[in-house]
Amino acid sequence: AERARLAAATGPGRTADGHPVRLLANIGSAADLRPGAEGVGLFRTEFLFLDRKQPPSPEEQTAAYAEVFERAEGPVIVRTLDAGTDKPLPFLGLPEEPNPALGVRGLRVDRLLPDVLDAQLAAIAEAARATGADVRVMAPMVTTPAEAAGFARRARAAGIAQVGVMVEVPAAALRAAEVLREVDFLSIGTNDLAQYTFAADRQHPALADLLDPRQPALLGLIEACAAAGREAGKPVGVCGEAAGDPAVAPLLVGLGVTSLSMAPSCVPLVREALARLTLEECRELARQALT
Ligand code: PEP
Ligand code: MG
Repeated sequence: AERARLAAATGPGRTADGHPVRLLANIGSAADLRPGAEGVGLFRTEFLFLDRKQPPSPEEQTAAYAEVFERAEGPVIVRTLDAGTDKPLPFLGLPEEPNPALGVRGLRVDRLLPDVLDAQLAAIAEAARATGADVRVMAPMVTTPAEAAGFARRARAAGIAQVGVMVEVPAAALRAAEVLREVDFLSIGTNDLAQYTFAADRQHPALADLLDPRQPALLGLIEACAAAGREAGKPVGVCGEAAGDPAVAPLLVGLGVTSLSMAPSCVPLVREALARLTLEECRELARQALT
């Protein structure tokens, strides 16, 4: 029992019967990196650029990414800028909106300012080349397969081979199979996916019950994404806060997701929670929760 406990305390994520589940880290800069995760599942790049009036120079961007790529263990999934609503980026100079959560945020900023994405993709590709790291990119707030295709084309043109999108909008989850035809992987952002599924502001304390990740409607969308990934033979992870909750993580595994990305401090607890249950037990938890 002691040996099992120690094995569960370090090493790759797996269920009690050995089914692998990659345990990845959510970070905002190199300072957030800790040993123990199998890679970075969500590098929130906007945190490098909050509170700035001037856009970062290409060299500055490349240096910030290279620092993370050099120090991270395993692959790094970089999320392109997720500006808007809860993450204002003054240097973009975006107009104020009456309904910011439903407005020009995430990948949608590209409709107004296409140069920003191209500059960022070029800096990511340059930092990847300079460090030799395994670097992948994904876009936030993707809604349609056409948006996924457009992002993938631009990222591949910049020289980045592995391209994914976040599933944060119900429309993308409902068309997960079509979205997956355009990209190499999906990463489900349950924070925003819950907000948009339940039409409930993710920061509103009075609506916390609606935002509970165990709501069957949300779990059903996650299950649909996982099924589409299985069918396509492509990975589907979760990178919202739910992935780092040891009470929810086994359920997500039971729904079929292949990786969980979370705050680095959550990794040991989630590893331990998974090591206690077989895949079939996780599936049973998922079946119960869905009903
Ligand atoms: C999410 O929406 O679940 C997510 C991981 O992205 P963020 O919390 O940065 O919006
Ligand atoms: Mg989000």
